[in-house]
Amino acid sequence: KNYTKDEIRQIVKEENVKFLRLMFTDIGGIIKNVEVPIDQLEKVLSNKMMFDGSSIEGFVRIEESDMYLQPELDTWMIFPWGSEHGKVARLICRIYNTDGTPFMGDPRNNLIRVMDEMKAAGFTQFNIGPEPEFFLFKLDEKGQPTLHLNDKGSYFDFAPVDLGENCRRDIVLELENMGFEVEASHHEVAPGQHEIDFKYADALEAADNIQTFKLVVKTVARKHGLHATFMPKPLDGINGSGMHMNMSLFHEDGNAFYDENGEMQLSDTAYHFMAGLLNHARGLTAIANPTVNSFKRLVPGFEAPVYVAWSGKNRSPLVRVPASRGLSTRLELRSVDPTANPYLIVAAMLEAGLDGIRNQATPAPAVDRNIYRMDDDEREANQITDLPSTLHNALKALEADEVLRTSLGNHLYPSFMESKRLEWASYRQVVSQWERDQYLEQY
Ligand code: GLN
Ligand code: MG
Ligand code: MG
Ligand code: MG
Repeated sequence: KNYTKDEIRQIVKEENVKFLRLMFTDIGGIIKNVEVPIDQLEKVLSNKMMFDGSSIEGFVRIEESDMYLQPELDTWMIFPWGSEHGKVARLICRIYNTDGTPFMGDPRNNLIRVMDEMKAAGFTQFNIGPEPEFFLFKLDEKGQPTLHLNDKGSYFDFAPVDLGENCRRDIVLELENMGFEVEASHHEVAPGQHEIDFKYADALEAADNIQTFKLVVKTVARKHGLHATFMPKPLDGINGSGMHMNMSLFHEDGNAFYDENGEMQLSDTAYHFMAGLLNHARGLTAIANPTVNSFKRLVPGFEAPVYVAWSGKNRSPLVRVPASRGLSTRLELRSVDPTANPYLIVAAMLEAGLDGIRNQATPAPAVDRNIYRMDDDEREANQITDLPSTLHNALKALEADEVLRTSLGNHLYPSFMESKRLEWASYRQVVSQWERDQYLEQY
């Protein structure tokens, strides 16, 4: 919805909004917000709200720290869970430098830049339909998350085994109150694991929605005495949580991936785009799976991809072509997990796909067999490579991928690399219980 400043002023009065949250996302995908009392509304609406950028990871140095928050009026939303002092509303903001130029360390500004590239290439929209998964754990008496799952349910189970169902239903209701269109919500394969799919939207709105979604899920779960986590692999031995990304590219005449007469009714553009995703799959991993824990999910046996391949039939490959055609013709990238910064991964997928289109790249043939049952020779014969197996290898793959470096831009790329290398450096120094169990007595 598009709100004018006057409409917002009006709503503030009518609804007794007392606080404004100005939200943006840092490089790690974490939502940051500056909360201001409502008497600051005019300052906010006239783009005069300043904050100190040096306190945000990956933003700027102290000496150039003043930045402006410029609210995007169409992101106006009143939170359904107001404080006792009155309602709280939020606006997602773009970050500007003091000279009036967009700050390119803002992942949202960067996505807008890549979308402008897409428009210059003749497309109108990049639609994203995310499928975020998450676990619900019980909270202890002190309100701290435990590792106790709240149910024993599994895929599509009904109550009473699915005790998380009430919580999930509440989440869906809150989302709908906030204007989300929820397409499906179900128990996932693992106990305590859930998925909520919301309707696709244009890239920027979809990324905003993912951020809002996580906030709602966590907030509502707390009210049920539960902790919702988007950590990709909280427990070993059972499925982890992914965030499959369905995507389609539109031009003036509709869905650019659809061609009635094409092979599998897919257009050449769809095949080029898919080839772009596959060719950049290794580098994309660093952005799609940006935490040490992400790689504990990308292992065989838990419905998460391990190999670079595509299929229109089975679900084990990295890229799948879901059955629907016409306007909903789309590609599904199955590696992405919910720790990915949505603005960065959407920009990176788009850049990878556009690169495939620019180069008229073609993908290797579809693999409709179970890749996990093939041996190395068979995989090689089918041109199947593997995804990086650690954050370290993924970062090296990103470093080697010029197209994806461009998708992050000159400000975000070095900051991203620096923070992720530190994360890896910190992890590799820790000795785990697994190692002690294996080696302490054996050697
Ligand atoms: N949880 C699986 C993953 O890690 C996906 C399962 C599914 O949606 N079929 O990606
Ligand atoms: Mg799904
Ligand atoms: Mg799922
Ligand atoms: Mg899926």
